[in-house]
Amino acid sequence: MVAVERGFYEAAAERAGVRALAEEPLARHTTMRVGGPAQWFFLPGTPESAARLWAELRRGPLPVRILGWGSNVVAVDAGVRAAVICTDELRRDPELLPGARIAAWAGVPVPGLARWAAAQGLSGLEFAEGIPAQLGGAVRMNAGANRSSFSEVTELALVAGDDGRVIERALGPADFAYRESFASREKLFVLGARLRLAPGDPAEIRARMSAFRGRRRATQPIQLPSAGCVFANYADQSVGALVERLGLKGRRRGDAEVSTLHGNFIVNRGQASAADVLGLLEEIRTALAQATGQAPRIEVEIWRDEP
Ligand SMILES: Cc1cc2nc3c(=O)[nH]c(=O)nc-3n(C[C@H](O)[C@H](O)[C@H](O)COP(=O)(O)OP(=O)(O)OC[C@H]3O[C@@H](n4cnc5c(N)ncnc54)[C@H](O)[C@@H]3O)c2cc1C
Repeated sequence: MVAVERGFYEAAAERAGVRALAEEPLARHTTMRVGGPAQWFFLPGTPESAARLWAELRRGPLPVRILGWGSNVVAVDAGVRAAVICTDELRRDPELLPGARIAAWAGVPVPGLARWAAAQGLSGLEFAEGIPAQLGGAVRMNAGANRSSFSEVTELALVAGDDGRVIERALGPADFAYRESFASREKLFVLGARLRLAPGDPAEIRARMSAFRGRRRATQPIQLPSAGCVFANYADQSVGALVERLGLKGRRRGDAEVSTLHGNFIVNRGQASAADVLGLLEEIRTALAQATGQAPRIEVEIWRDEP
């Protein structure tokens, strides 16, 4: 590690009031459980310190990346020469606001937030209870399930300004599209969000969540490490069904396996490396391209150094 970088990053963390770790393995912070170290890894505990850190790090030599629950990220075995800000500690209890609104910080886990909203008699987040995301990652990805997505409930985001301040950003439908948002387009750091829900009967809300949960359990390998759906579906056919038809379910490379339950998931059966996962991903992608004439778009984000 270059000494000047160590000096820069330790000083930046200290000025922002944030905990910094050197060479932190990404396998510990991603749901696929693979990936080498991030050169620098930061864990801010408040939106204010996170915004200060963002401004500091953007002046540094390494690219800055944000990590939430790590459920859509596959990091390569070599790790990344990057300054990674992880939102794991950017959490505290959500806030109930007038008008069936709630506010929460970026690191708040979405499943717990959905259950908390249900307990308050607020409907609108039922769709999200099974999504292993933090709120910031879910807003940034416009995560969705069960025919709904975060675009429908997110009316305001807190984002980090380049000057280190926390900025409020009002949001409308034009700020979101399928699995993307203002934050992915403009490369913004989401620090928190305000959601507009609707009053509802807690028992009915819980019944809807339970039905969604049952469906997910029956169709997805949620007890094994994975990064969710690997590929975006084709316009007219599901990748999972196609993989099944091609006889590729259960295909393995080392401990990486095409799920036998859902053909669009690659699971880690224990000791898979990122090379196993990405090798298998390429094999399936080639088979799909040969079968359909078009390679599917990769939906998971692969973290490797930019050339
Ligand atoms: C078992 C399983 C099931 C899944 N089911 C679904 C599903 O039903 N629907 C769905 O949409 N997705 C699903 N996913 C994928 C994943 O959960 C979503 O993409 C989720 O939104 C990722 O959130 P995260 O906090 O884990 O973000 P990460 O995976 O940590 O990051 C994803 C991207 O968002 C960026 N990011 C993270 N936090 C922030 C922030 N605060 N500000 C700005 N950028 C940020 C990262 O830099 C990265 O580019 C599933 C994944 C798994 C493993």
